[in-house]
Amino acid sequence: MKQSFNCTDCITNESIQVVVEDNLVISKTKTTFETDASLFIGPSLLDLQINGFSGVDFNTFPILQEDFITVIHNLAKEGILSFFPTVITNSDFNIISLLQNINQLCLQSALISSYVSGIHLEGPFISAVKEASGAHSKEYIKAPDWELFEVFQEASGNRIKIITISPEWDNAVEFIEKCVANNIVVSIGHTVASGAQIKAAVDAGASMSTHLGNGAPLSLHRNSNLIFDQLANNNLTPSIIADGYHLPDNFLKIVLAAKNNQVILVSDSTMFAGMNPGVYHSHIGGKVTLEQGGRLSIFDNNKILAGSAVSLLDCINKLYSSALLNLATAWSLASTCPKRMVNVADCSDDFVLFKIVNNMIIIVSVIKSGKQIYTQN
Ligand SMILES: [Zn+2]
Repeated sequence: MKQSFNCTDCITNESIQVVVEDNLVISKTKTTFETDASLFIGPSLLDLQINGFSGVDFNTFPILQEDFITVIHNLAKEGILSFFPTVITNSDFNIISLLQNINQLCLQSALISSYVSGIHLEGPFISAVKEASGAHSKEYIKAPDWELFEVFQEASGNRIKIITISPEWDNAVEFIEKCVANNIVVSIGHTVASGAQIKAAVDAGASMSTHLGNGAPLSLHRNSNLIFDQLANNNLTPSIIADGYHLPDNFLKIVLAAKNNQVILVSDSTMFAGMNPGVYHSHIGGKVTLEQGGRLSIFDNNKILAGSAVSLLDCINKLYSSALLNLATAWSLASTCPKRMVNVADCSDDFVLFKIVNNMIIIVSVIKSGKQIYTQN
């Protein structure tokens, strides 16, 4: 069956004609034809921080191949064609086992390796201060240790491309310099670092802030604090969890304005993303409640969030539908911006067709390597 889509590039605004026959892209060309005003084309999405999805947890060993492939299929339906499984603070043994597990899955399956464009190691070299460490196990948090990191990197098959650390440790600068020399993006997060420590980290090559506004103490100095210090530093690109629950709209507005929209959207999703509402058991939060719309909270105290349970597409929709960003910017913050940060080429054979219905993005078709892998019924 031959299908032809006349759509608008959601970032460049160009008119594009895509012809698909038997699920293969025959052509994708700029056109002068009138486009279907409600149909858009955008580059594939990249999520730099994902702890799990649809019932599969990347921080529980072992991760089975069929489960990982289930995650891939569920993410692909939402246009997310590459992602960074995120391994958080744990015992050295467990971190090594999880990294080896992910590396093995990539080596065994070409499908898996085509989706995993890197691993994000979030910890264990973060702040031990409880309000900053959040759900990370305090007993395993430690000062940066390059030799230990080399063991982690070897276990991962050199797939760790982002590490979240706190620059408050005495040897942070030396550690950051080694990471940067080895092409690893250093992201500042889960921290109580001073302004001077943040500046020193950036001077050493740190270039990103992990989920800015979360993983930080509840109370900060009104004029001088680690959020302002990171916002004001033009060499830091922050990631934000725009799930509608982790950050108030005014905070998002300030971050987007201060950074001139040089911001990266991440889902930071737990395994509960993509699951039906209900009460579940979480290995870090105990009993948790998942509500319709993706709000995840502690069962005994629903004021306390228990992580994120939305997808990257939900985050784009949140920013777009609440008019915090226009469509072009919202989509690029989850596609071209994260790709630039980790040096992943924007492949023109990977793209997404979508429409806007009631101010929400609805995926129509997903193309990977020139093949249509999902189409809306
Ligand atoms: Zn975190």
